[in-house]
Amino acid sequence: MATTRRPFVGGNWKMNTTRAAGLELARAVADAARAHPEAEVVVYPSFPFLEGVRERVSGSGLSVGGQDCAGHQTGAHTGQVSAAMLQEVGCASVLIGHSERRHGLSESDALLSMKLHRAVECGLQPVLCVGETLAQREEGNADGVIAQQLHGALHGHSEQSLAALVIAYEPVWAIGTGRTAAVSDAEAAHRTVRQTLADLYSARFAEQVRVVYGGSVHAKNAAELFGCEEIDGGLVGGASLVAADFATIIASAASRSSMRRGR
Ligand code: PEP
Repeated sequence: MATTRRPFVGGNWKMNTTRAAGLELARAVADAARAHPEAEVVVYPSFPFLEGVRERVSGSGLSVGGQDCAGHQTGAHTGQVSAAMLQEVGCASVLIGHSERRHGLSESDALLSMKLHRAVECGLQPVLCVGETLAQREEGNADGVIAQQLHGALHGHSEQSLAALVIAYEPVWAIGTGRTAAVSDAEAAHRTVRQTLADLYSARFAEQVRVVYGGSVHAKNAAELFGCEEIDGGLVGGASLVAADFATIIASAASRSSMRRGR
């Protein structure tokens, strides 16, 4: 069945760029987003640069998001940033459960479920990241891990509250390594995501949620990945820091949408 899911491309800048370089990159990405309105494009700069980047891209169609938010609403949580703060500086989206936080900072599914609650109550689009480690894949447990992460983080959330949800399937072994998942493996993992959403909620919900791939997406492999019916776009790290490469990735996602309309 052909879908009407709008392609989604996220640029996760991680702890990179200076303020000046971020603003310049944002300007170039805004041009690409303006040229390809079929795709939804979001960049995720570091917290201190959010407001400046948001002002720089205003009116272009490019949105800005946070790389994380706290599980608490407010209070004594030194170093953390709340969903309400992100919303106040103009963020439209937030990454939740990126593997560099799951594995680097031991974030649990229970904590991610709290973060998801905070994002939803502030009207932010949650982009929930899931994905297996290399050891888990080699044990034949990739699907089990993906399903377990979804069950854990989505626990206590209703289908209605998750209308804006995007899932990023990001195999840990492919992030920042230059090693991309085979298209058939990525496609199979995306089907697992969708089947788990159907089991947890409904087939209709599973069909409408955008599931994007992350893990060494670059200008040369984006078209092949996004050519799959199951892959609704990408979450991009390294290549999102190079304006020309990210523009090519955005164009690849946008042309997926034209292909669906048979143009
Ligand atoms: C990411 O950080 O989400 C990511 C996919 O990084 P990269 O594209 O560099 O693998």
